[in-house]
Amino acid sequence: MSLPRTLVAVTLAALLNGAALAQPLTLNLYSARHYQTDEALYENFTKATGIKINRVDADDAGILARLATEGSSSPADVILLVDAARLWRAEVDGLFQPVKSPTLESRIPPQLRGKDTGQGSQWFGLSTRARVVVYNKAAVKREDVDTYEELAEPKNKGRLCTRSGSHPYNLSLFGAMHEHLGPAATEIWLKGLVANMARTPKGGDSDQIRAVASGECAVALVNTYYLARVMRSDKPEDKAVMDKVAVVFPNQSTYGTHVNIAGAAVARHAKNRDAARQFLEYLVSEQAQVYFADGNNEWPVVASVKVANPALQALGPFKSETISVSMVGMNQVKIQQMLDRVGYK
Ligand code: FE
Repeated sequence: MSLPRTLVAVTLAALLNGAALAQPLTLNLYSARHYQTDEALYENFTKATGIKINRVDADDAGILARLATEGSSSPADVILLVDAARLWRAEVDGLFQPVKSPTLESRIPPQLRGKDTGQGSQWFGLSTRARVVVYNKAAVKREDVDTYEELAEPKNKGRLCTRSGSHPYNLSLFGAMHEHLGPAATEIWLKGLVANMARTPKGGDSDQIRAVASGECAVALVNTYYLARVMRSDKPEDKAVMDKVAVVFPNQSTYGTHVNIAGAAVARHAKNRDAARQFLEYLVSEQAQVYFADGNNEWPVVASVKVANPALQALGPFKSETISVSMVGMNQVKIQQMLDRVGYK
């Protein structure tokens, strides 16, 4: 006996439908992080939840531009960025959506996530990095460079190297200084930094470390993970660099050293909101925090998580500023105008 044609069609459709439902859910992740250890991080999430991760790599600026271009047809579910000012910018530009999660709220300190306007925060810090002073031991006395303010004093004339003032890492540091010193003093400070430059700002943070070691500059501003990379390297040229330079965490006796974050958010037009939130919650788990932070020599945001990273341990505990990273982002337009006025390239 053969089945009626319509029943066959219905059964087939049901089967196909079932097959579609059984397909594993895939989260689209736009990431400005590309570290080997992140692979293990994503695999563990997939193992635990069955949710696959499809990663699209670009830098922060590239991701923000892409989200803006794609608009409501963007396939992005989760965004990973590596600077507070850019996270803030993306929030203001409407590229994220708020997430309400007791797990994220209890594990991430409030100053390291976006402002909660009742529906949750729009972004969440996942690891921290400090912007520290690296100096040439033969050329500089530590006590002359152990505050951000002193870098702008005449005693350090001709000594300073930094990357571009408009780079987000510097915009965030200067935005923090705006909170600590107020607008007038910050502009005077920036003018002092420009007056003390050993060369026109260029290169990345690693280039500043090398320039300090070679003696082209005597002091530079760098993120801790760039320094930690050199500290952990076995290459003779990196060991030679570490012989010449020392690090100081500025402002330990006042407001503390400037700290920036790498963080994540759920995209405005995410198709898989629940899975995206689940992924963010996974990223603050004990195991994920170790991978996430350690993979780039950063500190976990979850206070109870300990990292056995030799470079971070050598850098030691330090006092970090406690201002909200949202404030830092908010100041960036004002800071850019100051940089233009004082001629900070
Ligand atoms: Fe970086």
